[in-house]
Amino acid sequence: MNGASLSGLVKAAHAAVEYNKDEIASLDQAIGDGDHVFNLLRGFGAVQALAGTIEQLPFHEALKLSSQKVLSTVGGSSGPLFASLLLGMSRSLASSADREVTPSKAADAFAVGVAEMQRWGKTGTGSKTMMDVLIPVMEEFSKLAQSGASARQILVSLPRVATDGCQLTRDMVATKGRASFMGERSKGHIDPGARSCEVMIGAVCEQILSDTTESKNEEVHE
Ligand code: ADP
Ligand code: MG
Repeated sequence: MNGASLSGLVKAAHAAVEYNKDEIASLDQAIGDGDHVFNLLRGFGAVQALAGTIEQLPFHEALKLSSQKVLSTVGGSSGPLFASLLLGMSRSLASSADREVTPSKAADAFAVGVAEMQRWGKTGTGSKTMMDVLIPVMEEFSKLAQSGASARQILVSLPRVATDGCQLTRDMVATKGRASFMGERSKGHIDPGARSCEVMIGAVCEQILSDTTESKNEEVHE
């Protein structure tokens, strides 16, 4: 993994969010102020404008630069949250001497990133936020990596966990963020941040899976 791989993941996540833009916007119009997906798309645009620089960097530095760009462009509650995730992951990966990103290093980095988000957002699961997707995904990622699961098993499992977490937000009453102003009336709607995270996790896993399959095929043909 290097800056070029990160750039490919950002592109895939951006395309998936763009594809689901109308749905995420209407979820946020129902229980928020409607800007979540547009904030996110602005961030993706800004990070992609830096692709030339990002692609020359080691993976952890590329994550750090992306985090700074997300913080300065996304805004809302989600800007600092996503920036914390990327910065936490960058710090965790920077602390490893060897630059190879194994499943267990990636799981540790994701756990540090999610912990950083929780430090900022001060919530766990059950408040009807993006954490209802990210925390179960982080837990499953750590469990699978520790049990020695293959990259493929991990990449197939995590999107399913993300979908389950996202669906669970529908029946929750929001107790954090703007949606909490609606109290009981927030019930019956999926949280927009949970849905955008589900979409991004699905796209990132699918992209890594296809990169891994391609490099395996290249090995076979060599
Ligand atoms: P804002 O609510 O400030 O307009 P955004 O529109 O950028 O922020 O993002 C809204 C999303 O942020 C929500 O759908 C929810 O998932 C997430 N969110 C809000 N508050 C928190 C929090 N304290 N911790 C984690 N996620 C949160
Ligand atoms: Mg908003």
